[in-house]
Amino acid sequence: MNSTRRAKMSAKIILIIAASIAVISSICVSSSDPGLLQDFCVADFTSNVFVNGFPCKDPLLVTSDDFFYSGIDQPRSTDNQLGSNITIVGVNRIRGLNTLGIIIARIDYAPGGLNPPHYHPRASEVFTVIEGNLFAGFITTNSDIGNTLYAKKLQKGDIFVFPQGLIHFQFNIGSKRAVATAAFGSQSPGLMTVPNAVFGSNPPVPAVILAKAFQLNTTTIEWLQQQNWVKNFNY
Ligand code: MN
Repeated sequence: MNSTRRAKMSAKIILIIAASIAVISSICVSSSDPGLLQDFCVADFTSNVFVNGFPCKDPLLVTSDDFFYSGIDQPRSTDNQLGSNITIVGVNRIRGLNTLGIIIARIDYAPGGLNPPHYHPRASEVFTVIEGNLFAGFITTNSDIGNTLYAKKLQKGDIFVFPQGLIHFQFNIGSKRAVATAAFGSQSPGLMTVPNAVFGSNPPVPAVILAKAFQLNTTTIEWLQQQNWVKNFNY
């Protein structure tokens, strides 16, 4: 084998390896709800069957109202410590969303209102500002780029994306109320509100553990654990 042929061969091998890695990694990173096996599967909440999602209502009994929700334009009360309210429009409100792999939410913010740091283990989020001025951002994992904060000031008409599983927040920096929608790529994105989970767990995490983790004394941790970690969301 002369050197030109050898070079061509190794180039081919490298190409095959690269292509294989690309295929394997695309399989690994694809994450979404399971695919549909039928046109729809309107949730039947009366069933005692436990499946991944909800069992399907008899298709002969399905009506247009199973795919309908009205009132997302209505302002929600932000009268809580956070000054924010998340109305999740998922399968509980639109049963026809079951198995479709998407849901949406409306978020209201009082001036100074905060949707606190949280993450969704099973979905990325497309966040759209309908009204007002917000500061929103997300933080990356402990990777090569470290815990980088990607954040922007957003106004009406702006869209920001929160990648799946990353901690993110929105804060109303305007003098008026703000409203946004959040669309999720799962019917069950999951919601982990960081302060609630860390300081408001039941039973509490031993204070000595959180004291070490947060570089605080146990008295401060115990004080934090006694606070009312408000739930600012409803399904
Ligand atoms: Mn979110």
